[in-house]
Amino acid sequence: MFLTITTTGTPDRPATDLGYLLHKHPDNAQVFSTAQGRAHVLYPEADDQRCTAALLLEIDPVALVRKGRGKGRGGAPDAALAQYVNDRPYAASSLLAVALSGVFKSALRGVCPARPELVGQALPLRIEVPALPARGGAALVTKLFEPLGWTVTAEPVALDGAFPEWGASRYVRLVLEGEKVLAEALRHLYVLLPVLDDAKHYWVSPDEVDKLLRAGEGWLAEHPEHKLITSRYLARRWALTREAMERLELVRLADLDELAVEEVDNAVDEATDTEEKPVPLAVQRRDAIIDALKSSGAHRVLDLGCGQGQLVQALLKDVTFTEIVGTDVSMRALTIASRRLKLERMGERQAARVKLFQGSLAYTDKRLKGYDAAVLSEVIEHLDLPRLPALEYAVFGAARPTTVIVTTPNVEYNVRWESLPAGHVRHGDHRFEWTRAEFADWAGKVAGRHGYTVEFRPVGPDDPEVGPPTQMAVFTKAANDNTKGEQAA
Ligand code: SAH
Repeated sequence: MFLTITTTGTPDRPATDLGYLLHKHPDNAQVFSTAQGRAHVLYPEADDQRCTAALLLEIDPVALVRKGRGKGRGGAPDAALAQYVNDRPYAASSLLAVALSGVFKSALRGVCPARPELVGQALPLRIEVPALPARGGAALVTKLFEPLGWTVTAEPVALDGAFPEWGASRYVRLVLEGEKVLAEALRHLYVLLPVLDDAKHYWVSPDEVDKLLRAGEGWLAEHPEHKLITSRYLARRWALTREAMERLELVRLADLDELAVEEVDNAVDEATDTEEKPVPLAVQRRDAIIDALKSSGAHRVLDLGCGQGQLVQALLKDVTFTEIVGTDVSMRALTIASRRLKLERMGERQAARVKLFQGSLAYTDKRLKGYDAAVLSEVIEHLDLPRLPALEYAVFGAARPTTVIVTTPNVEYNVRWESLPAGHVRHGDHRFEWTRAEFADWAGKVAGRHGYTVEFRPVGPDDPEVGPPTQMAVFTKAANDNTKGEQAA
């Protein structure tokens, strides 16, 4: 499978500048090994007037299938790929997108230390993909690329040239032409190749949402087909699609109308409800938190850093919880939460049980005192480490609920997310991610300093080597606690 990128030069800008932007010298042919095969970068032509870079990916289809079978971590490989004879070696699929992101990582991010002035420049680009699997056909290819400002040529490839009466295959020859910043062009391909392929070869992990939103920054939210793109990119995993749509809605919040959130929810359900639905980690986490709250006997609960209110919503459905307070530093998150909960339209008795307010956990806050339990679900890792003692004091020193439940990613598990490059955190905004030992160390010290005991529970599959994807600590205030919060601390 391959793809070419061509640009033309001007008197004051040689076409070979493309080599700088791609971080690959036009005089060399280079080979990179990727998870599924070998990627070659070479330049069939490179002079001042015209320069073409080609990315050629050699795939071992048998290894691909074997690797897929070995997995069994929730996600079966796509049925179409579960055979040794498959189209992967020939067709420009999601594998090509993955190779693209690996081989042209800096170019995709728009980084070019050697020639930073080139990065933001729009270049005349011509991108050709000779065999693009396109579920939805040439018409969909055009619908996806045209709104992004490309001139699109999408020609169906005949099933067999010798037998035109057999009609077209599901492949098209794609040519995109336009004046574009290279990083943007690569990000379009990175997202839309797998969308058109619609048969992702790898298990879609929760951090795919982050990747999609990063690659889609600046164009996806406004794209007329953003629903289709999002749902297909996430291989129709409904929970992830919904999360992505909600986060895209944040981007679009400015022109969000009353019903947008509901419409999105419905559209996503319709598009995807024939798919298998593994229990997403976020749901497992919510369930584990609710279990822990119930066994602590809590009725009045704080959800600190409640984000878009998913946990608050789940707690409201359970009459055990008589008072639920969600707080967050982000007003935007709270706006989404209040839409989700339909606070305005809620009956009086329901509305009396729930409150949302803005506040930062880096400061003590009188409003947080006197509750049975507080939840910090995937919050601590969003604070810079030096701010953590302030949060610790605000929660354990000042608010002092009977129970505190803290969840955070287990960084050891990251090697199990197939599409997460080594050394990366799961979310762009994570300031740190801890091993089990680091979390246990922190939690133990916090408990010791503030008169709590702590125990740890895994959330998600507890891998024998690397542990569970999410770690949870349940803190319980010592029974003989007679500190009075701030004064005593
Ligand atoms: N608890 C939710 C959201 C986790 S995302 C869930 O489990 O899905 C982290 C949230 O913490 C974000 O909504 C962010 O706005 C919030 N947050 C980050 N720093 C904060 C601070 N200093 N005070 C309060 N909330 C904060």
